[in-house]
Amino acid sequence: MKLIMKFGGTSMAGPERIRHAAALVTDALRQHHVVAVVSAMDGVTEELLAIADHAEAGDRTSVEQTLSQVRSAHESTADTLGCLAETRELLARLESLATGIMAVGECTPRSRDAVVSFGERMSTRFMAAALGVASGRPARGFDGGDAGIVTNDHFGEADPLMDISLLQVRDRLAPLVEARTPIVVAGFIAQTQHGVMSTIGRGGSDYTATILGAALSADEIHIWSDVDGLMTADPRLVPGARLLSHLTFAEAIEMGKFGAKSMHPRALEPAAEHGIPVRMRNTFKPDNPGTLIGSAVGQPDARRPGESAVRSVPMLKNMAMITVGGAGMIGRPGTAAALFDALAVARINVHMICQSVSEAGISVVVSMAQLDRAKAALERSMRPFIGVRTAHIGSRGDAAAGTRVPHGIDVVPNIAIVAPVGSGMRGVPGVVARIFTAVASRNLNIIAIAQGSSELSVCFAVDKDSGPEAVRAVHDEFDAR
Ligand code: ASP
Ligand code: MG
Repeated sequence: MKLIMKFGGTSMAGPERIRHAAALVTDALRQHHVVAVVSAMDGVTEELLAIADHAEAGDRTSVEQTLSQVRSAHESTADTLGCLAETRELLARLESLATGIMAVGECTPRSRDAVVSFGERMSTRFMAAALGVASGRPARGFDGGDAGIVTNDHFGEADPLMDISLLQVRDRLAPLVEARTPIVVAGFIAQTQHGVMSTIGRGGSDYTATILGAALSADEIHIWSDVDGLMTADPRLVPGARLLSHLTFAEAIEMGKFGAKSMHPRALEPAAEHGIPVRMRNTFKPDNPGTLIGSAVGQPDARRPGESAVRSVPMLKNMAMITVGGAGMIGRPGTAAALFDALAVARINVHMICQSVSEAGISVVVSMAQLDRAKAALERSMRPFIGVRTAHIGSRGDAAAGTRVPHGIDVVPNIAIVAPVGSGMRGVPGVVARIFTAVASRNLNIIAIAQGSSELSVCFAVDKDSGPEAVRAVHDEFDAR
């Protein structure tokens, strides 16, 4: 088999864990063709981002403090693994970059990507060193860009240019994979067409792994982390939550952005498109089979015996709903286009959309972190449609809200989105009724509802304090598995 084995930050946290991961790769190399992909050591990406922020703010003391934390963690690991010289060289480059940013007092997204890339670059050296020892053969290390992944220049969350990336990766790595050379690729980082370092979004090492998998026509992509796999619910909310042994791509993509240890939202795309199964595995329990996404056997989207209609009940916290309303929107083509265009230009991620047939209002759900920017963008651009008036209504609703025709921009902060997912919901009457009856029986108020025509999931918004109970209500009702 041809395998991609991706190790997350907790699997790379310290020399012992790195050696353990290298041993797993070495084992696999005995029977398979393997490419390892690595993340930065746990917490390092956050530290590097903090260095960029402190440097931009000219806060030399904090830059030095954080740099010295990064330095000591990496130097001690490098020393143990025998790659101290090259690690020191990278650390020195990181330091001069931070000094440069302090000098100009500005950190562009491009410079920030350069700073944050060092985590994965150092991890790659570590894994290559450990793998060299474990396998007895010198390992080859690549940055994502050197491996052939090319992106646009949207620094911070650059989009891979897929066709050229797949070709280049195949060209550069396939012969080495064929020869069973131990290969390590830095996740998360890539290069623009002009050879400038870019990153592909937080959690992007998963995406790197699936891009490599697609390029090399891998048989399976293994995502190693410190959890057993995907669950029917967050076990902190639902004590009876179970591990899911398998999921279809459609279900997993639907669940993609939920959950404590979720994958990069786009990571499953290349795998699904090329039909390559992704297996989530626990580095510390390598005998567990984990969760298999996409099936190696049978029809990929068929329901299997014993599965419940709702297979998982993920929840998104820290959300807000913005409703843009006004009689001026009714029957007026272009309103929705203007609204979504304004949000797109402001780079706001919309999580959920509702419009009633009266057309008097459109509601969108965004994260609390993006709320102010979203609201400002809508106030600017929707003025011709609605005039502007912004009101904050509590998430439990206020008395007036129910009687008022929506007009202007209403904001409901602090909501949670609950999104029961399952391919067994499709075409089965009564599932939605069961979901809402279960929620109603716990006396919880639903603020908004959306269902995509895929019928794979239903999303509903509730007050943030009602979220956990709503998850339990649906999980219990369907006995999710
Ligand atoms: N190190 C990056 C992050 O923490 C990428 C990754 O871990 O996948 O976001
Ligand atoms: Mg990470």
